[in-house]
Amino acid sequence: MDRDWTKRTRAVHEGARRSQFAELSEAIFLTQGFDYPSAEAAEARFEKAARDEFIYARYGNPTVAIFEDRLAMIEGAEDAFACASGMAAVNGALMALLKAGDRVVAARALFGSCLYILEEVLGRFGVEVVLVDGTDLEAWRRAVTPGTAAVFFEMISNPVLEVVDLPAVAEIAHAAGAKVIVDNVFATPVFSRAFEQGADLVVYSATKHIDGQGRCLGGAILGPREVIRGPVQTYMKHSGGAISPFNAWVMLKGLETLDLRVRAQAAGARLIAEGLKDDPRFARVIYPGLAGHPGHALFPEGGTLLALDLAGGKEAAFKVLNALDIWRISNNLGDAKSIITHPATTTHQNLPEETRSVLGIGPGLLRLSVGLEDPADLLADLRAALDTL
Ligand SMILES: *Cc1c(COP(=O)(O)O)cnc(C)c1O
Repeated sequence: MDRDWTKRTRAVHEGARRSQFAELSEAIFLTQGFDYPSAEAAEARFEKAARDEFIYARYGNPTVAIFEDRLAMIEGAEDAFACASGMAAVNGALMALLKAGDRVVAARALFGSCLYILEEVLGRFGVEVVLVDGTDLEAWRRAVTPGTAAVFFEMISNPVLEVVDLPAVAEIAHAAGAKVIVDNVFATPVFSRAFEQGADLVVYSATKHIDGQGRCLGGAILGPREVIRGPVQTYMKHSGGAISPFNAWVMLKGLETLDLRVRAQAAGARLIAEGLKDDPRFARVIYPGLAGHPGHALFPEGGTLLALDLAGGKEAAFKVLNALDIWRISNNLGDAKSIITHPATTTHQNLPEETRSVLGIGPGLLRLSVGLEDPADLLADLRAALDTL
């Protein structure tokens, strides 16, 4: 690709591989196998395959390769490996790099399945996992002892949108020799500066903003080529977490509109946060784009999600949920449709009450993912629902 093009232009074209028909829209190569021109060619390919020499779809596929190259370009990574889901990516990144006896320090406010992999799975294989408050740099300093293998966190946490100081945590981690692995779903590839700020690997659930229309599962691990085409690819290709070519195609077409969608959704989230921030029915209106948010300086773009903490607790939260018209009650995020969820009774239902309270997930907390509807309509819908209280 022409290096003078900006990211937004390249996001429409990067990585394209065309068949002999020169199709304009990228093709879905729905094939698991590849036909070798000779026995010698097959032998050579198994010995060492170039990037565009494919063997089996679990290892790689042309449609998947377009998605990987396009996403790596947008994120500013050397390379990417696409995965069947965000969790296949998180599991792959951790399993590819860690071994028994290693120590991992992670932020406590994690997506539930990430917590399961760290505590249950890695724990069973003799990896020591220490959880800290992600916003407390002193806690990171204490926990990241020399020889720590990796740190893992969501730069913007779910659902209370705490912002981890990525550059500072990366400095602490690198001083101890630890790799920095960031689950960057809430920041999105549009607003992420993770690699500039010191991340070694970034993982995404493509299911969220990258698809952006709630259709398919997908994920990716991004980082230096020697790691992605080295231990990450080796682990992923043998353990079976490859994305299907169809899902990769949905995701790569999503990348063409990602910038426009995420910026429009973030503008909507900002308008809603500003419209509600002084409403006395909320104990807290949480949006990193608001000047008063403790993570504002680290993530002034704010993102596409906000959290509203209703003073009236669960009863008020359920009443508002049930009175909404446009907002859908669901637990996806990053979708074109605006989505609202009550974490305490759904995504975080299984956590003990005291863990929920440490994480700030109270009975009145609602998490909102702003979609592509007119933000004025979304705000009016919220206000009408609040007026039923
Ligand atoms: C959704 C999500 C995941 C898991 O992604 P799937 O595609 O559902 O497997 C991991 N981390 C974060 C922060 C997420 O939001």
